[in-house]
Amino acid sequence: MNTILLLPDIVANQIAAGEVIQRPASAVKELLENAIDADATKIQLIIKDAGRTLIQVVDNGKGMNFTDARMCFERHATSKIATADDLYHLTTKGFRGEALASIAAIAQVELKTKRPEEETGTLLITEGSQVKEHIPTATQDGTSISVKNLFFNVPARRNFLKSDTIELGHIEEELNRLSLIHCDIDFSFYHNGKLIQQLPPSNQKQRIINVFGAHFKDKLFPVELDTETVKISGFIAKPESAKKKKNEQYLFVNHRFVKHYLLHHAIETTYKELIPEGHKPAFFIEISVPPTTIDVNISPTKIDIKFQDDRMIYAFLNAAVKKTLGTLSLLPQIDFNYNPQYDFSGIKPKDNVKPPTLTLNPNYNPYSSKTERKTTPSDSWEQFLSGLKNEPIVTHPKEEEKLVFTEENKDNEEIIDETQIKCLLFSDTYLVFLWKDMLHIIDVRAARERLLFEHYLNALENTSIVIQQSMFPETITLSASATEIVNDIQPELRALGYELEQMDRNSFAVNGTPVDETNIDVQQVIEQFVEMYKTHQFLHKTDKNSAIAKSMAKQKCNSKLQIPSEPEQQAFIKQWLQCKVPHISPSGKRVSKVLTAEEMRKFFD
Ligand code: ADP
Ligand code: MG
Repeated sequence: MNTILLLPDIVANQIAAGEVIQRPASAVKELLENAIDADATKIQLIIKDAGRTLIQVVDNGKGMNFTDARMCFERHATSKIATADDLYHLTTKGFRGEALASIAAIAQVELKTKRPEEETGTLLITEGSQVKEHIPTATQDGTSISVKNLFFNVPARRNFLKSDTIELGHIEEELNRLSLIHCDIDFSFYHNGKLIQQLPPSNQKQRIINVFGAHFKDKLFPVELDTETVKISGFIAKPESAKKKKNEQYLFVNHRFVKHYLLHHAIETTYKELIPEGHKPAFFIEISVPPTTIDVNISPTKIDIKFQDDRMIYAFLNAAVKKTLGTLSLLPQIDFNYNPQYDFSGIKPKDNVKPPTLTLNPNYNPYSSKTERKTTPSDSWEQFLSGLKNEPIVTHPKEEEKLVFTEENKDNEEIIDETQIKCLLFSDTYLVFLWKDMLHIIDVRAARERLLFEHYLNALENTSIVIQQSMFPETITLSASATEIVNDIQPELRALGYELEQMDRNSFAVNGTPVDETNIDVQQVIEQFVEMYKTHQFLHKTDKNSAIAKSMAKQKCNSKLQIPSEPEQQAFIKQWLQCKVPHISPSGKRVSKVLTAEEMRKFFD
């Protein structure tokens, strides 16, 4: 007896619907995308009970004729592609021809549609894929689709739905993902009869502000890059507006909202050290590439994407964001002019201290074979990422530009005369002082951690710590694995001021220690260093240095800083003012609070 049956279409559609329509928000996304694909300039989204009872999308797009109104509910019915090859020339959101078939399989649908060039429109009513009504009707130009009682015939799905607040949140998110990139479309959103959002056509910055609120107004900074094959545009938010939640991150490729782990990494990695750990920067960035170089047909929801050359996109995106962050004043109230006379302990005024900068190679052209990257497509990502940091990249092939992370400007050096700074140590914890007509309060411990971090980072990158040779070297003994690591990291140890020489299998003579440090327990320092190194040894050099500097700074911060006298406090403030990223400590603590006279006035008004 044969046991294999072909599933009836209705069942097949219900099963397939599970992939496309997981919750009301998925239906919202599909319907909005169809309206956009139909060239609508005005779209209304009308929801009842968080989408459980009604999801309606009304558009003023090109509509459908009588036959198409019936056809659109068939599986694999689409007007957007004709051959598989068309997948690589997509300009529409949809192409799989399965959204309406899926929705119809699990809901009651009422479609009213009319093409502007035709006299009458069409009304079509379906229930669980079965057509109940298909008649000419009088209706306005464009399309209105009402999806009622979603999952009415799949109770199991209905039971999976979350609270109205959560479902409505998902719907809102889908609307955001489309409205933030289709700024020329007029969107309005109603829930249970109430207008929730009204988005008139505007530029992208205004759209972002309309969606997320006026507080974004001064936080957005443009990101722009234009090359022959990639165009990047959009906005990033100031580091200090970063939040714990990830929900203000919008990446679009050719007008499609996408999630791409590596591209998110390309952006987020530039914010490191600028925002507290675990916080997420906000961004709204669009990447435009030729449709032939991407594949979006990876998942039914079309949110994943593959690039022909994701390394190149990564490099461009990373550089574009860095460029914006580099020119952005991280603390507009203060000019941080880097003073090479930076006389933090351990660096003598006469030492030639170079600030670490990220330089771009203006001659690097990713398209020219002469300057081809050393990486080949077979390299691992790990290698690629590290290559990227070693090998300078260029933001714009034509621009001869230095990419610096701060506003440090060596031509416009400002010599800070610390003796002019009036200051006060408060509660042994905070330094209060006036600088540039503003009242500053800094948390001494957090500021010190920042100072030490930059000091150690600088030491690691420029080998600037002066070593004091010991006349009678002390000996330390380490475990076998620690011995191996110490031998591997001699250069880093040396950069930090520790000169060790292996005596026998597990012991080392301590020939030199940092000149400014006394009473150090070298054994303990080295052991902690080795421990920390174990966790970071696979990082690339830049990240490793930063991890090392971070841990050293944290360690040293545990001892209390004594700055009882005014000159000591002034010197400390001066050093802090010269930090590259003063207001956030490397472990993510806020360092300072700045009050302007204006803010004071407002407070007392
Ligand atoms: P896809 O969008 O992948 O083509 P859908 O099932 O979402 O598949 O839609 C099927 C077809 O129905 C579309 O290709 C389009 O021709 C038509 N259609 C759907 N919605 C609209 C609309 N709002 N306006 C005009 N045509 C539409
Ligand atoms: Mg569609």
